[in-house]
Amino acid sequence: MTAALLPVADHQARVLSLLADGSARAPESVPAAGAAGRVLAAAVASPEPLPAFDNSAMDGYAVRAADVAGAGADSPVRLTVAGEIPAGAAAGTLAPGTAHRIMTGAPVPAGADAIVEVEQTDGGTDVVTVRAAREAGSFVRARGGDVAVGDPVLAAGTLVGPAQLGLLAALGVPEIEVRARPRVLVVSTGSELAADPRPELGQIRDANGAMLAAAVEDAGAVAVRRLWVADDVPAFLALLDAELDGIDLVLTSGGVSAGAYEVVKDGLGPRGIEFVKVAMQPGMPQGAGRYDGVPVVCLPGNPVSSLVSFEVFVRPALRAVAGLPRTTRPVVHAALTEAIESVPGKRQLRRGRLDRAAGTVRPWGPPGSGFLGWLAGADCLLDIPADVTAVGAGEPVAVWDLTG
Ligand code: AMP
Ligand code: MG
Repeated sequence: MTAALLPVADHQARVLSLLADGSARAPESVPAAGAAGRVLAAAVASPEPLPAFDNSAMDGYAVRAADVAGAGADSPVRLTVAGEIPAGAAAGTLAPGTAHRIMTGAPVPAGADAIVEVEQTDGGTDVVTVRAAREAGSFVRARGGDVAVGDPVLAAGTLVGPAQLGLLAALGVPEIEVRARPRVLVVSTGSELAADPRPELGQIRDANGAMLAAAVEDAGAVAVRRLWVADDVPAFLALLDAELDGIDLVLTSGGVSAGAYEVVKDGLGPRGIEFVKVAMQPGMPQGAGRYDGVPVVCLPGNPVSSLVSFEVFVRPALRAVAGLPRTTRPVVHAALTEAIESVPGKRQLRRGRLDRAAGTVRPWGPPGSGFLGWLAGADCLLDIPADVTAVGAGEPVAVWDLTG
């Protein structure tokens, strides 16, 4: 029976190619200030030099190097302090034989070519005693010395983070071209899902909608809408027909297993979506395909199965399509704190808690797929290969770090 199960990698590849195929949206122009987490679609060339003007790298004195050439601990040079330049002031002009007191970041006056740090002086305000010689260029941050005009400062494909935003702000780049984020429609299914915040007996609240929408955003995509539909095939199809516009992925949960009233399978199976059994626990029933040309991925309904399936199949594909680095979670190896068993023929993804410092991982909750409370307390997944049926305490297992 297990021979009929599809290997995890096969369904991963199917979902990835489904999302990657022909769905590339045009890049969009966005204000740089709000672009954290986006991926550059085009290189940024610097419109300005950085720094924009020669400025002091130290608090000290702007001088002509020639005027302090003979200075030393035993041969101090005394210069008249003819000016004071705080940061933000305009640059003046330095007359030969004089010094200007200057602060870090302040413009170097014309005629000066070196800065003597305050530590090498007596800090004088009318006359300064300089105790060290400084070569031309010393402690001067030259105009364009960091970035020259036209420098290709950020390459296409760069993830925009704090340092990139700092550079764009410094250069006065107002807008950047970024890759479009995949737009995802999240659809929860099930007649038991209650709209009322206080469900009646037999009804439950929609956990998957909130969970998958957050997971979508975390994967670098946009959860455009979150919808719910009862176990009613015509209603489900009508909802899809009405909502597909501008959507790159429909992500459904529930209605894909072997019971009666499997709304997703019954609705989409005859319409070209392929439903498969993957050799994985939790998350055996899965579906993927196109509806009206739009990629659809169908996850099982149990919240644990749903989120684990998302981690395994959808997150890597969304991140890849979004152009993000690290499409998969960091995998570490850690020693089990207690023995576990695993079903033969299925790759098991157990919830766990990782102690990176100790190099250990503790199984967190039972293997069953209904334990949302345990899922919420876990921070990693134990990845037990399909052919392993038991792992002893102290033995190493591969662990997906869900915080990374
Ligand atoms: P299904 O795959 O539709 O048979 O659902 C399997 C289990 O997951 C059932 O116990 C459902 O009530 C539950 N379930 C399905 N969808 C959701 C959801 N959106 N939120 C919470 N539980 C759900
Ligand atoms: Mg259902």
